[in-house]
Amino acid sequence: MAKNYKIAVLPGDGIGPEIVGEAVRVLKAIGKKNNIKFDLQEALVGGASIDKYGAPLTDETLKLAKGSDAVLLGAVGGPKWEGLDYSIRPERALLALRKELGLFANLRPAKIYPVLSDASTLKKEIIDGVDIMVIRELTGGLYFGTPKGVTKLPDGTERGVNTMVYTTPEIERIARVAFDVARKRRKKVTSVDKANVLETTELWRKVVIKVHKDYQDIELSHMYVDNCAMQLVRNPKQFDVIVTENTFGDILSDEAAMLTGSIGMLPSASLGGKVGMYEPIHGSAPDIAGTDKANPIATILSVAMMLRFSFDLTKEADDVERAVESVLNKGYRTLDINQPGMKLVGCKGMGEAIIGEL
Ligand code: NAD
Repeated sequence: MAKNYKIAVLPGDGIGPEIVGEAVRVLKAIGKKNNIKFDLQEALVGGASIDKYGAPLTDETLKLAKGSDAVLLGAVGGPKWEGLDYSIRPERALLALRKELGLFANLRPAKIYPVLSDASTLKKEIIDGVDIMVIRELTGGLYFGTPKGVTKLPDGTERGVNTMVYTTPEIERIARVAFDVARKRRKKVTSVDKANVLETTELWRKVVIKVHKDYQDIELSHMYVDNCAMQLVRNPKQFDVIVTENTFGDILSDEAAMLTGSIGMLPSASLGGKVGMYEPIHGSAPDIAGTDKANPIATILSVAMMLRFSFDLTKEADDVERAVESVLNKGYRTLDINQPGMKLVGCKGMGEAIIGEL
């Protein structure tokens, strides 16, 4: 009997429902074409969940995610919820999902499509051929370490604390992911740290070197995060796989994203536990929500990553990626990647064009 893939669909806020809507249509088209059954169950998350249930992630939604084979997420957050306490902000839902699902490895590919190399703010000769995989540690570091919080001091001023914490096993497992991924690519890993200043990342470097002993076929180099930020715009082609801790990875992957022209192009996979989670790397883009201007490609490529990493449906994943490339080659553009002479389409139009290619 054909396998039934259970997917929790969490559109979230802002452009979330629009981009996830198109990604779901692509999934359904792939299912129909290849006779694969995707059982899609939708739930609220983030601000939408706060509005209805008073919490960004309910127990039911978490249960749905845990009981699925994969999670497809849009984006959460927006100005409406910015005044709320940090503990119940929409973004808490993401942190909780990552933690509860044990998703310690975030894979963010930044690949230049040749037809889009003019859409980047960097010179064509710098970015042509860029193909980087940023692997960000996702459940440790500053975002989770304790102590944290803001306390009042006796003199009436305040003191804010966050703590960057990593243990040996946490570093070992993310290093292994990086070396394993590099093996299927160009066999180069750059581990990014700030070992000259931060003791936590001195440990990071030591452990990565130790794990590397099991991966002698992979070339390993180390780079300080400030230098990496510079090298990414100076000579991005030097990188294959970049592995780094949570906060550095958050920042560097957005920078890598901009090499490609638009944040609206970049998918991500969060792996490590039984259930993988797939989402675009951008946020809920409240400035364009509800206007059919969002680029759905990052979310559609996230579906391709889901097919590849969670379901081992390699041919189907290749099909989706090929359809995206083909639509771009034919000149279809959403506003964020548009150039003179191209066919400007909205979120729905881009989804339709990609389904047409499938
Ligand atoms: P953002 O990524 O939402 O938007 C940054 C800029 O990129 C905006 O100009 C936006 O219009 C544009 N953009 C983003 N995605 C696009 C797409 N698919 N197509 C076309 N243009 C796109 O980041 P922000 O403005 O800093 O944050 C907005 C909200 O999103 C905040 O509440 C933030 O907390 C939240 N956020 C959520 C996530 C997530 O859910 N994973 C990630 C980042 C930010």
